[in-house]
Amino acid sequence: MKPFQGKIILKKNRIESIEWIPGSVIIINDNTFAEFKNAWAYPGFVDCHGHVAALGSKLSELDLSKCRSAEECIEWSLLNPGFRGIWLTGRGWNEELWATQTFPDLNILDFYYPDIPVYLSRVDGHSAWVNSKALQLAGVDKFTQDPKGGMIIKDKSGNPTGVLIDNAMDLVKKNIPKYEKEQLSELILKACHNLASHGLTQVHEADLHPENVKVFIELDRENKLPIKIKSYLSSQKDEWKNYDYLPSTFNNFSICGLKFYADGALGSRGAAMFDKYNDSDTKGLLLIEPDELFQKAKIGLEKGFHIATHAIGDGANSMVLKTYSRLIKEGITNKDSILRLEHAQTIRTEDLKYLEHDNIITSIQPIHCLSDAPMAEKRLGDNCKYAYPWKSILNSGGRLAAGSDFPIESHNPFIGIDAFVRRIPFDRNDSWYPEERLSRIEALEAYCIAPHQIFDNDFQYSENLVDMTADLTILNNNLLVCNENDIAKTKAVATFINGKLIDN
Ligand SMILES: [Zn+2]
Repeated sequence: MKPFQGKIILKKNRIESIEWIPGSVIIINDNTFAEFKNAWAYPGFVDCHGHVAALGSKLSELDLSKCRSAEECIEWSLLNPGFRGIWLTGRGWNEELWATQTFPDLNILDFYYPDIPVYLSRVDGHSAWVNSKALQLAGVDKFTQDPKGGMIIKDKSGNPTGVLIDNAMDLVKKNIPKYEKEQLSELILKACHNLASHGLTQVHEADLHPENVKVFIELDRENKLPIKIKSYLSSQKDEWKNYDYLPSTFNNFSICGLKFYADGALGSRGAAMFDKYNDSDTKGLLLIEPDELFQKAKIGLEKGFHIATHAIGDGANSMVLKTYSRLIKEGITNKDSILRLEHAQTIRTEDLKYLEHDNIITSIQPIHCLSDAPMAEKRLGDNCKYAYPWKSILNSGGRLAAGSDFPIESHNPFIGIDAFVRRIPFDRNDSWYPEERLSRIEALEAYCIAPHQIFDNDFQYSENLVDMTADLTILNNNLLVCNENDIAKTKAVATFINGKLIDN
């Protein structure tokens, strides 16, 4: 595949012909003539792991990330209030950037918001700043004990200060009402348009609660979804079984698979490792036993679902790979079904063999490596050599499908390609374990070829683009030859889906 310029004639949702003309991309169909100067066209970019509604709420909520003091947070909240029911909610404050460098407290919130509950989460999502009204509704006071895995920060007299850490956040958060259907629709559409503006023609929704499926189906029926969404239903607690959904494709929306969790995350030391963490006496925890995963996946496969399992630690990845292998060995499925490892952040060398043997898809979010490297060094020490093993996966015959885990990380795919190619963490100047870097072609394949070939029966891919489904991403850059430093600065000029220009 190489980016192309020239005159592209479309017929319905297919590319009928291409005439190479250097300098620009011209797209012509029955009622469109669109010219993009100094641009290149690519098969539509796909993000294979994200959370659409969560991105919508991130884009819509009060954003405190630019505030430089508690007072500024209040000022900003008064100018840009964001409500869920009667609750004022927001996110993104970071006391490390403030002159005080200390946690805020509830007094200032109580002064401006005496009567409505306020819940503001910190930039990392691991603590929340709340007011007295919110604590009162949750029944949290000086006598409330810290929950397991959480802390209610208290002053000298034992009264809560208004900052809750980790699991203590849930004491208050559980009272915030869910989005109304109309609100949820708005958030989904906002997210989809933003995703399209970054050149994404398709995303995989990596954990969709079946309760919300109907909202997507309705938007799709009304032809409102601007991009294609493949969804994986929340299934750890068999949530999907309470609904009648089976694998199905609607218009732009489809239900493809079931999502499971084998372990937690590296930052909180919840990822299940073979060895103890470098900075703790623990090994993390499996969230599901191998046999349970086997049984749940078996039922899903028999109904025709793809199976996607979150696995971060090398222990969790090993367990999932062996479970998938057992499903094939016992004839419950074959190598043609879609078995995905989500994240696959650490894999021991001896387990890489399963990837090719059982045709396992690794769903990778390269940007995590750029954010996580300093933390990963603390947690893993020498075992970092097994971490974010992109080239090792390809060398062992595995297949990569790229994504970002938006909104936890940016959904800008060019930061992801830059991560694959240069692998320079955000706080560094040099490549981190450079032997795991990918070539530009390999990185592009993971974003705009493999996702179509692996997951998309309806998408016709073609090496020379003739006859290809006309999902196209037009960029201001040729990612194969541009200066390496410019990869992350690339901008999407336009996105076409089924031959139709998407306006953002
Ligand atoms: Zn995710």
